[in-house]
Amino acid sequence: MSTIIIQHDDCFRHDPGPKHPESPRRINAVLSGLEDLRGLELLPAPRATAEQIRTVHPLDFWAAIEEQEPAEGRIALDADTFLNRGSVDAALRASGGLCFAIDQILADKALRAFCAVRPPGHHSEPEQAMGFCLLNHVAIGALHALENPSIARVAIIDFDVHHGNGTQAVFEKNPDVLFVSSHQVPLYPGTGSAEETGCGNILNLPLAPGDGGRAFRRTWNRQGLPAVHDFAPDLILVSAGFDAHQRDPLAQLELEDADYRWITEEICELSRDCSQGRVASILEGGYDLKALASAGREHVLGLGS
Ligand SMILES: [Zn+2]
Repeated sequence: MSTIIIQHDDCFRHDPGPKHPESPRRINAVLSGLEDLRGLELLPAPRATAEQIRTVHPLDFWAAIEEQEPAEGRIALDADTFLNRGSVDAALRASGGLCFAIDQILADKALRAFCAVRPPGHHSEPEQAMGFCLLNHVAIGALHALENPSIARVAIIDFDVHHGNGTQAVFEKNPDVLFVSSHQVPLYPGTGSAEETGCGNILNLPLAPGDGGRAFRRTWNRQGLPAVHDFAPDLILVSAGFDAHQRDPLAQLELEDADYRWITEEICELSRDCSQGRVASILEGGYDLKALASAGREHVLGLGS
């Protein structure tokens, strides 16, 4: 049973502009890195349903986003979050893709999944689109999984270089979900200090600019991975951002491709102890196209192909 890759052409339609780092070419880059891997099955992402979205976002919030989508050109929701015709469909495919991946895994049709979708989601709060993100896909996916009677606890591992403020906001009072995030501090969005612990279910692991792979691995070995192990989740979700890579233009954490392989293999090893090996991962950030191809490839190889 191999890793499934979830994708949809609608994810190319969201276009925040030629100078914006969150470009449709990111998906081409990720897929190009997977081209010669054998045994990968590519499956199309369905759109998320209103029932799935409303578990995280009030439907009037999402209706307002849909209404603002322009017929042509683009509008700004904030300084770096934009809507053009197709943005809504792209976000729906991304959230729906992760829910579909989870369904495939829980039906034993796959063990692992990687959703090569965009725009990213982990900055989106229940009533606030921000930081390139419209819907919070990983939060929607976690709550979708928890509706399955076999799933009592979900762990979300977020190694994007930015703090997943939106994911933290959704779950900080929900003990059924553990959120563990490593991220560079200081950096956008400014949240994610170690003092933010939710109801004991939030573990923030701030790293400093220049820390590199050694500090990243030490932090996950000493704190992040043991916390997930102790939580004993029935399913592990991964917010897989590749912007901690040394090539990335938006941050300075200086990870290498091998660090992405390492964290992915550690997550999979851990999943064998608690979640029957089940891991569903979704693309978050990552803005250097070469790094997306090479580190994304290592991530999928780590998931097992
Ligand atoms: Zn990021």
